[in-house]
Amino acid sequence: MKTNTLIIGAGPAGAACAIRLMQAGVECLLIDKQSFPRQKLCAGLFTQKSQKCLRALVGNEKYDECMNNSLRNEEESFNLYGKDHKLLVSCKPPKPITLIDREKFDQWLVNFYISLGGQFKDNTQITDIDFVQQTAKISDYEVQYDHLIAADGANSFVERLLAKKYPDTFKKKRKSSMCMEINVDKDDLKMDGVNIFFDIVPDSYAWVFNKTGKTCIGLVKLPDHDFDVNSAMRRFIQELKVQHVEKYPLRGAMLPIGAYMEKPYHWNTLFVGDAAGFVEPLTGEGIYYALQSGTYAAEAIIDKGDTNRLYLEKTKYLTQLIDKGQKYQNMLESTSKRNLFYRHAGKHPNFISYFYDTQIENGCLDSFWKIVLKYFFCKK
Ligand SMILES: Cc1cc2nc3c(=O)[nH]c(=O)nc-3n(C[C@H](O)[C@H](O)[C@H](O)COP(=O)(O)OP(=O)(O)OC[C@H]3O[C@@H](n4cnc5c(N)ncnc54)[C@H](O)[C@@H]3O)c2cc1C
Repeated sequence: MKTNTLIIGAGPAGAACAIRLMQAGVECLLIDKQSFPRQKLCAGLFTQKSQKCLRALVGNEKYDECMNNSLRNEEESFNLYGKDHKLLVSCKPPKPITLIDREKFDQWLVNFYISLGGQFKDNTQITDIDFVQQTAKISDYEVQYDHLIAADGANSFVERLLAKKYPDTFKKKRKSSMCMEINVDKDDLKMDGVNIFFDIVPDSYAWVFNKTGKTCIGLVKLPDHDFDVNSAMRRFIQELKVQHVEKYPLRGAMLPIGAYMEKPYHWNTLFVGDAAGFVEPLTGEGIYYALQSGTYAAEAIIDKGDTNRLYLEKTKYLTQLIDKGQKYQNMLESTSKRNLFYRHAGKHPNFISYFYDTQIENGCLDSFWKIVLKYFFCKK
């Protein structure tokens, strides 16, 4: 088989890339090792910048169709909790917080790509790649490609293969974080809003999101932290007084927080989404980065110029956002700064709401102090 672009992984990064290529008439093949629709551990926070990115990719009409299909909930309140589950601040961001169903969302994207004439093979595993000859082995046949897109998630097979074959020239991303998550029935835990809990796990946070009919509970363990993440999750569930806990087996997944690739390419291979480590360190947000980097990779290929250089230029905004998120994450890791935050957060709910809206929902690149100044200026 021959194809212009072989895309490994049909999450939002791979699907966005495939859609953009098909729209430009570039032939591609999208494969995934799982059978679709597939479950994906994800809290489903779909920020305004993700919404804009999807709208730009699929157009207004199809965007509405996608959201009608995948929307779980729109939550009004954003709440932060400190030590012993004490409510620090409860605020109402200017726009409701959108939560989506990942299984339905990812399937919709793949279906849209197929409707454009795209080829998709699920249940399909790559066994080897010859990066020089540009061929990938899939079961008993080979695919020859001009471009390869590694969209195969945090624990990328393509990345591991390149690191094994070219240890001197290819640099892997740093170790990933670990996330635990369960979705419990509303009757077993009811909590409105989008709720973030500090001081449940060291230097990180846990969450409880209201997702119509279900309550999503999760936490993040950062790399280089040595504690039992299963026990921490069980303790959190107990503290929340979740009923019938035996119904909900714990599930975990890797998330490449603070570990993006400086050069998300190698020869004719471009890394996108989690495979490139494009995840925002403060919030663990990755859907936006997946959609946007997938689209950028496609545009770099469509341009027919120096694909790697173009892709690197395009993803600069993403890495700037990630670097900024890393600074906030570092602040969270400093006890004195965290205590300062605990003391002041409750007194300024409108600032927390402004910060959430500009920095997290909309991806503004302003520094923290510029945000503070702008906030007080707007208030006046
Ligand atoms: C617990 C948890 C909660 C999260 N909550 C949020 C949130 O609320 N909001 C947000 O924006 N982000 C969230 N994220 C992050 C978000 O889920 C990811 O960043 C996003 O899914 C990345 O998309 P992707 O397409 O890069 O990878 P994925 O969605 O992981 O897709 C990768 C695909 O590649 C396939 N694949 C893997 N290996 C191979 C192979 N060898 N061959 C073929 N196919 C392969 C997989 O089957 C999979 O379908 C969360 C993550 C976790 C773990």
